[in-house]
Amino acid sequence: MGLGAEANLGDSIVTTKLDQAINWARSYSMWPMAFGTACCGIEFMSVAAAKYDISRFGAEVVRFSPRQADLLIVAGTISYKQAPVLKKIWDQMCEPKWVISMGACASSGGFYDNYTTLQGIDEVIPVDEYVAGCPPRPEAVLDAIMRIQEKSFDESIIKERATNFKGILDA
Ligand code: SF4
Repeated sequence: MGLGAEANLGDSIVTTKLDQAINWARSYSMWPMAFGTACCGIEFMSVAAAKYDISRFGAEVVRFSPRQADLLIVAGTISYKQAPVLKKIWDQMCEPKWVISMGACASSGGFYDNYTTLQGIDEVIPVDEYVAGCPPRPEAVLDAIMRIQEKSFDESIIKERATNFKGILDA
């Protein structure tokens, strides 16, 4: 039994906040874009294939244009030479947008501790979820998607996100 209008109109209406309605829709219709550069990119194909069925989470519409994606999944080793490309792709995505760093290489450079390899994508773009592993299991990536869904429920449609991030490529 509801209160106010819900009490008078029974089960025919539901009252909610605009933030909650929009966040509910966003959370269950994320459009991922995979930035796959190495073996984790291959593992992401498994995440998106039938066995693990990413469509259960509403995230099966994989985009290959950053302008159509709101969830960037960085899967693989990123070199310093690739870093500006990654940053440009991130900049081209519209708000609200989220990032998953998939695997040891994307999160920390992995075992490529050398002069060519970025030691974690969070040096250039903000990361919402890190997924451990080399490569991570598909279940771990799905778990990260669910954690982002949970986070997005608490967001406000009128507040900007991640405005205070400054990476090594930001002036
Ligand atoms: S974390 Fe492991 S599996 Fe993933 S890109 Fe690096 S070396 Fe390959």
